[in-house]
Amino acid sequence: MTLQIPADLLPADGRFGSGPSKVPAGRLEALAATGVSLMGTSHRQQPVKDLVQRVRSGLAELFALPDGYEVVLGNGGSVAFFDLVTYALVRERSQHAVFGEFGKKFAKATKAAPWLADPVMVEAAPGALAVPSYDAGVDVYAWTHNETSTGVMAPVARPEGASADQLTIVDATSAAGGLPLDPIQADVYFFAPQKSFASDGGLWLALLSPAALARAEEIAASGRHIPSFFGLTAAIKQSRAGQTVNTPAVATLFLMAEQLDWMNAQGGLAGMVARTTASAEALYTWAEKSDYATPFVPDPAHRSLVVGTVELDPAIDKDAVRATLAANGVVDLDAYRGIGTNQLRIAMYPSVDAADVAALTACLDWVVERL
Ligand SMILES: *Cc1c(COP(=O)(O)O)cnc(C)c1O
Repeated sequence: MTLQIPADLLPADGRFGSGPSKVPAGRLEALAATGVSLMGTSHRQQPVKDLVQRVRSGLAELFALPDGYEVVLGNGGSVAFFDLVTYALVRERSQHAVFGEFGKKFAKATKAAPWLADPVMVEAAPGALAVPSYDAGVDVYAWTHNETSTGVMAPVARPEGASADQLTIVDATSAAGGLPLDPIQADVYFFAPQKSFASDGGLWLALLSPAALARAEEIAASGRHIPSFFGLTAAIKQSRAGQTVNTPAVATLFLMAEQLDWMNAQGGLAGMVARTTASAEALYTWAEKSDYATPFVPDPAHRSLVVGTVELDPAIDKDAVRATLAANGVVDLDAYRGIGTNQLRIAMYPSVDAADVAALTACLDWVVERL
């Protein structure tokens, strides 16, 4: 028999998945309401071009994009962008700050590229933070703004002493839109729509600095073979025209554009960071007080505002807790594969209300007491 959590304890929306994440109420209805004016029409015609430009200008507004920076997008999602970096942006050797599974995957991509020298690695154990540091022998510094596998967030700052010819490339897939950013610190800030942007997967989007745009031109002209799927200069050209190199998912772009309108109307990035900060406070304050849960990330300054990880007392069966919550509509609290020992992971992207995070902690207390 499954425990039934009292209705007044339950969050208004029980989706806490780290990606794909909660899509706010009304959005799918808004998509349906566009009817045949958008879905099932050519992506080379004006309505879809306008939609792509709506996403590009919405992002430029959200991030207060500096002069000369451009929003570029293409198909394949963030993991495809790891490979794109190896083909289209690294000249010879990159350095990777690695402190979790996504950073590891990114480094693996450059390591596997036979045309590049082996990357330099700066590593930290899960739960800790590694940051890039000056190295005259690299032309790219790469790191993860928010390590979705561990719940550690990193600063976005150029390593001290880095030259203008060394690019900073930041995987911001789960961070973008929910963590603070000084855009001038990143040459390439890339992400995907299925986390803070409350949409679906399959696309990559990147904010490119003038130095990154120039590097893309330089490498495209170098004679290196670049498969067209991983080409960046063509993506830049198409993006400027409100297009993508090959057919994009139109519904994904629509949902993202709606989320960007909401974000920009609610105070922009500062407004979104206020929301994620309130959620994170609710989660970590509860975990610190709890006698059976504790924040997985020891240093409070490294605890993510967008993906929280909580370690439970080994005596508690986390799978039974998760199953009970899921049966009550509170879903997707799974830890990333192989991280922690008895862990729950809670997404706190801008769409998630802090009151729902607080309700989740009350539900956890109620369930743990009764299991
Ligand atoms: C989700 C995630 C990815 C993978 O994104 P895809 O679009 O599925 O390729 C990469 N990096 C980070 C930090 C993520 O959170």
